[in-house]
Amino acid sequence: MTTYQDLGVKKIINAAGTYTKYSGSLMSKEVLEAMEAASKDFVDIDDLLIKSGKYLADLIGVESALITAGAAAGLALSTAACIAGNNKAVKRKLPLGDNLKNEIIVQKSHRNPYDQAIITAGGEFVEIGNAIECFGWELEAAISEKTAAVFHFIQSDMFRSSLPLDEVLEIAHRHQLPVIVDAAAELPPRSNLTKFIEMGADLVLFSGGKDLRGPQSSGLMLGNKDLIDLCRANGYPNHALGRPMKLDKETIMGLTTAVELYLKEDQEMRMQKWQQQAEYIQHNLEGIAGLTGQVGFPEQPLTQPAVIPRVFFEVDKEKLGLDKEELAEKLYFAEPAVVVVFDKKHLIINPHMLKEGEEKYIVEEIARIIEGVE
Ligand SMILES: *Cc1c(COP(=O)(O)O)cnc(C)c1O
Repeated sequence: MTTYQDLGVKKIINAAGTYTKYSGSLMSKEVLEAMEAASKDFVDIDDLLIKSGKYLADLIGVESALITAGAAAGLALSTAACIAGNNKAVKRKLPLGDNLKNEIIVQKSHRNPYDQAIITAGGEFVEIGNAIECFGWELEAAISEKTAAVFHFIQSDMFRSSLPLDEVLEIAHRHQLPVIVDAAAELPPRSNLTKFIEMGADLVLFSGGKDLRGPQSSGLMLGNKDLIDLCRANGYPNHALGRPMKLDKETIMGLTTAVELYLKEDQEMRMQKWQQQAEYIQHNLEGIAGLTGQVGFPEQPLTQPAVIPRVFFEVDKEKLGLDKEELAEKLYFAEPAVVVVFDKKHLIINPHMLKEGEEKYIVEEIARIIEGVE
């Protein structure tokens, strides 16, 4: 067996969150066992995708589900499905094609680094609104013969500029247009698994490798059965746009098991663990002049999920001799390494992916670093 140590790859204490760069989340023993069991036999992938989807849809209580190679892959498949439908010729050519009905309407404030997956699939964005406002009439006016779908990025609902999902759904559906929702990192709360579907969203994408703690290379698509059938038709193992977004049987069974466990687990206990870890870190670093920590919740996008309490540290360079970036860099080069995130004013410690006890190491390491500077 080759280990991280053999390769010289360092292990990380993850105080950042379920970031893909930091390898997402950790799978439970049950998920790994399901993957190992799945590895012993051959199956027909179509059969497995259809039946795992049906199983999960019934468990979650939605019309249809499909396991994908990540939420971003789900965005690409959703786009392909909305553009190509079941047209074999279009399906085979995507992302290229002539006179495609390929416009995806998006609010300007909903553009984000993940939406390249939509362009990859042949989608062409038609932007509405601006950085500070967006109105229903702008959505109405952008709809044309060439519109394939409307894209909605849940994180951007935090902006005042965002046209809310319920209004988007009302307008889009009045024009028989599907709404694709990126909810990749919107768990917890668990209720979000069904919230956007219940509001009427047509296709909703979640990451399998974030809070669901399935394989990192998996995703969960939920939604309307006809559209999900089209997503599957445009995806692996078929020769279509989704063919490079391959999933192995182990990943499919791993995510299926992870979702099953997710629906049963005690979410209140997880919340308590995060709160305790955040409070421990804040409390035990309180005495250091120039380092001011506060337990709270994020108020800007790209720090999802917003319901997890974190510690927001202001780092005063004059008092401490280092700023927040320099402190983070020292943490990254500590042994073991600690990764954190930032907003404009703060170094943020997110307990979401911290193992039990790691909060103690973080406190000791930050204290050690600051002592070393003085
Ligand atoms: C992580 C993330 C994605 C991509 O999800 P993968 O499962 O890694 O493909 C897309 N959108 C948002 C908002 C994300 O946070």
